[in-house]
Amino acid sequence: MNKVLIIGAGGVGTVVAHKCAQNSDVFNEIVIASRTKSKCDAIAKAIGKSNITTDQVDADHVDQLVALFKKHKPDIVINVALPYQDLTIMDACLECGVNYLDTANYEPIDEAHFEYSWQWAYRERFEKAGLTAILGCGFDPGVSGVFTAYAAKHHFGEMEYLDIVDCNAGNHGKAFATNFNPEINIREITQKGRYYENGKWIETEPQEIHQPLTYPNIGPRESYLLYHEELESLVINYPSIKRARFWMTFGQEYLTHLRVIQNIGMASIEPIMYEGREIVPIQFLKAVLPNPQELGTNYHGETSIGCRISGKDKEGKDLTYYIYNNCSHEESYKETGTQAVNYTTGVPAMIGAMMFLTGKWVTPGVHNVEEFDPDPFMEQLNKQGLPWHEEFNGDLEL
Ligand code: NDP
Repeated sequence: MNKVLIIGAGGVGTVVAHKCAQNSDVFNEIVIASRTKSKCDAIAKAIGKSNITTDQVDADHVDQLVALFKKHKPDIVINVALPYQDLTIMDACLECGVNYLDTANYEPIDEAHFEYSWQWAYRERFEKAGLTAILGCGFDPGVSGVFTAYAAKHHFGEMEYLDIVDCNAGNHGKAFATNFNPEINIREITQKGRYYENGKWIETEPQEIHQPLTYPNIGPRESYLLYHEELESLVINYPSIKRARFWMTFGQEYLTHLRVIQNIGMASIEPIMYEGREIVPIQFLKAVLPNPQELGTNYHGETSIGCRISGKDKEGKDLTYYIYNNCSHEESYKETGTQAVNYTTGVPAMIGAMMFLTGKWVTPGVHNVEEFDPDPFMEQLNKQGLPWHEEFNGDLEL
């Protein structure tokens, strides 16, 4: 009997729970635990299956996590709470002998800075304990790394240029809303941009570099260079890469709101005193912005995320390659009650846990997704609602 523990009951947690429940031959028992138990209960009720139970936990506290793990004895925990909880959950996994998977790398709450070093430092301890930790298994990071591993395994002798391109061409009808947790999202995109070239990291001002890129079934959209965490592991795992960049689309309206939010200090993570109590402006902002989970009702259009890679094929000839998935907000909502950004994150998290539980991705230690065999994962993407497409020797525009 396999048991999975899902921590976090937000937009992504909702999708993970739905998809695990659809695959009950692998996920025989499902526990959903989060800070606010009523949110877990609402997800369990919407799914309506008897193999789902719920619980409460504050995942900032290792002792509470240890008690939760001892009570439920899961085989693997899927961490879809916030990046702030990654290390406490990994600590509890080590203490209780539980395997681990997440979708975002650790970020300290008081410093808008993310990198893998904090989690890679757990490698030896997971290895010694015989436990597998799978890092960054959403779409990007996640499928972006699996796509790259698939390209390397089947098509390229040497990958030279990698561009991960992420377009959300959906329209939710709101003046300003983020597609996943607003605090994490705004922290990410207001940081300086960064890309890798010839062995060095090059820093840019936020949104300094941009150009229109054409997305399948969508058309041209202005795309902005951002730093994104999977670049850090991909350039290490594929040393032939000369340049690696990440691009994301934003509308003008979104960028204008973002600029105003920053200019008036609402994106700040520094605590301030307000009427005798300490508040963090960005956390207050999160409380007044639309809840990304509830954007689904009127969300139209699709996302398109993929990898554009060029280099030499297995015979040494020039090759350009584009692999991508398009995902519809409407279809995601019909299936899980939430929009495509949550869907494209939650489905791969479920597949990663499925890979572990079916013995395909079991390697003690702490690993990024591209270190595992991409083939069984790619097969499941097609079956679980995220079909992918390839284009050979087209114009990558980059
Ligand atoms: P939400 O804010 O919607 O949900 C987060 C959930 O975690 C909430 O249920 C929240 O509980 C819970 N939580 C927060 N803090 C704690 C805590 N201390 N203890 C227990 N539970 C806690 O976030 P999303 O669903 O939008 O995002 C989830 C994760 O997915 C994030 O880490 C995000 O970075 C990642 N992500 C990854 C992507 C990828 O492609 N790789 C893309 C999009 C998101 P409460 O309701 O009480 O606040």
